[in-house]
Amino acid sequence: MPRLVADRAVLHSTSELGRVMAAAAARERAGGRVLHLERGEPDFDTPPHVVEALAAAARDGRTHHYPDPRGEQALREALAEKLTRENGLAARADDVTVTVGGTHGLFSAIQALLSPGDEMLVLAPYWMAIPQLVGFAPGATWRPFGAYLELNARRWTPVEFAAALDETVGPNTRGIYLNTPNNPTGVVLERAALEALARVAIARDLWVISDEAYEHFVHDGAEHVSIGSLPGMDERTVSVYTFSKSYAMTGWRIGYVHAPAAMRRVLGPVMSFYSTHGQFAGVQRAALAAVTGPQDCVATMRAAYDARRRALLARLAGSPLRLEPPRGAFYAFPDVTGALAGRDLWALVEDWLARGVAVLPGTAFGAEYATRVRMSLATRHEDVEEAARIVAATA
Ligand code: PMP
Repeated sequence: MPRLVADRAVLHSTSELGRVMAAAAARERAGGRVLHLERGEPDFDTPPHVVEALAAAARDGRTHHYPDPRGEQALREALAEKLTRENGLAARADDVTVTVGGTHGLFSAIQALLSPGDEMLVLAPYWMAIPQLVGFAPGATWRPFGAYLELNARRWTPVEFAAALDETVGPNTRGIYLNTPNNPTGVVLERAALEALARVAIARDLWVISDEAYEHFVHDGAEHVSIGSLPGMDERTVSVYTFSKSYAMTGWRIGYVHAPAAMRRVLGPVMSFYSTHGQFAGVQRAALAAVTGPQDCVATMRAAYDARRRALLARLAGSPLRLEPPRGAFYAFPDVTGALAGRDLWALVEDWLARGVAVLPGTAFGAEYATRVRMSLATRHEDVEEAARIVAATA
């Protein structure tokens, strides 16, 4: 028998998300009910004007021709305008590359940036795809650097954060992966922290991948700051965006990257022959409608996530779970030490699942988060309330 799977570690890994989802599905097949707080996928429908734009594009015959692999000009112009207006990036259409979702944007950026032997520091906890995406770049490595919880709890001043980060940078470190608002903690890094990170990146000549998937979901007056807008960062920041969360378009697979001019030469080939050869023109028309059309749909979703967040905080108050109010994204990352009662984290996750509540163990987001779970608010308000009631009572 030929060897049908390459001998590469990244192709042989298992996921904790997969394990929870399989267990939840088995429970549902057996007739049990599951409140799905493990998924990071908006439960809203895509706004109707976006759906209509896709239908119109298909009817207009925008169904053949290979697309421009870097994205349609009209969409890239609209995105450049949005990046300039909302993110402060002084963007031009040529700096924007349309991708098949944020995952493909991250994949492309990582492939373009990392040489064999290069290391990327990953601010932790992190979205679980990141180590795998680095593992897919030949010979590249990564290292976690816990930052979000520390900064949020004010265990560091920005100056102390910069000093710790500077000390962690090694001889092979080429860049830093940053994700604010953060999945899984819901932490939104403040401008002063990002300025501190920028000082280190500039002093140590590093690039930054800024994953802004949750840019539109901030609460309690928190401000989303794009690090690429800070002085000296434009030439060293690759900013990655997606329509998945802001417009509830996970299934459409569309996102975009804003990259320094020096990367343009390689992003073209990565987009064309090395991966997808661009994105369906109809979906790009729909994305154009999303970014240029009314934004009240985004505000409505933001308000719904905020209401769920408040409900969760209210229900968990006084329980053994400890939760710093998340101020962004649609996740909470409570400390469950008080509920473990000597058990390991998986025992707790399985116990909660047996009571109908699916969450992800914190270890999915970094080995050191063995006393945390991620609860997603991207599910019905009533389900969040009920799940919170169940876990608060059983904790
Ligand atoms: N970045 C982060 C932090 C995410 O949580 C996700 C999705 N869960 C993505 C990027 C990518 O999303 P998509 O590929 O759907 O755009």
